[in-house]
Amino acid sequence: MEQQYPVGRFAPTPSGRMHLGNVFAALIAWLSVKSRNGVFLLRMEDLDTQRTSEEFARILREDLCWLGLDWDAETPPQSRRSEVYDRYVRLLREKELLYPCYCTRSQLHSVNAPHLSDGTYVYPGTCRNLSEAEKAAFDRLPAWRVKVPDRNYAFTDLCQGAFAQNLSEDCGDFVVQRADGVHVYQLAVTVDDGEAGVTEVVRGVDLMGSAPRQMYLQELFGFSHPAYGHVPLLVAPDGRRLSKRDEDLDMGALRLRKKPEEIVGILAHSCGLLEKYEPISPRELSSVFFWKKLKMDNIELQIPD
Ligand code: GLU
Repeated sequence: MEQQYPVGRFAPTPSGRMHLGNVFAALIAWLSVKSRNGVFLLRMEDLDTQRTSEEFARILREDLCWLGLDWDAETPPQSRRSEVYDRYVRLLREKELLYPCYCTRSQLHSVNAPHLSDGTYVYPGTCRNLSEAEKAAFDRLPAWRVKVPDRNYAFTDLCQGAFAQNLSEDCGDFVVQRADGVHVYQLAVTVDDGEAGVTEVVRGVDLMGSAPRQMYLQELFGFSHPAYGHVPLLVAPDGRRLSKRDEDLDMGALRLRKKPEEIVGILAHSCGLLEKYEPISPRELSSVFFWKKLKMDNIELQIPD
């Protein structure tokens, strides 16, 4: 039976306090489903246990509640799902799409090939056809790569419009499990969104280049493709791109100076959802939300004093 309602999610990495760019992605993800009476899920992406912590996750939830961005359910954090991810890795192995890769970091970095916007190299397939003897000669554990097809993955992004990538030319075979056993983001996000029945993935435009890899894995695992909406990056009034290092625009600093409705109003006005700045709650904003109103290019924050 066809699903009647949209299911969206916010999937932050709890490695620090949210800055306005993270809040913006959360707000648009929330508005997109709540303007259509959908379901909003929260998920902590804490695969990197060195950088993430339960304390950051707690503060993150608290900041979201304070902003009025409530969620209908929180799905289990990625750090607790490695057995589930193992099942999907096994599936790839059964399909004979997985192979061990012994390339070292420095070998990968010396690859003289174009690379994607997220800094990953187009993998030239160095380890794709190693013989058993060649594999046995390595004295280290391998990472596991999935073979990609020479095929275009295309979609119409809710915010950025048409986007396509040929996986073999633009990306190459990619790692799904690292040599230390940790599963990588591309695999975990596909499994989590697929199992939770997510119908739309809204996040920062810096992750748009990941969508074709996720679409390929969705196909292999039997999940439907969600709609994608990659929201523009925010730049500070002085032209800086926001990052976790900009403590002056993180939630800790903002909460000392602004009310939640003021923060939402600043974001809504800067991105084109509101013509004039006014304090507003996410709930009120959901009645005027349309994807078409949103700017596609970098958004310069307009912060009233
Ligand atoms: N965990 C990622 C981040 O915090 C977002 C991943 C996603 O939304 O797919 O940037």
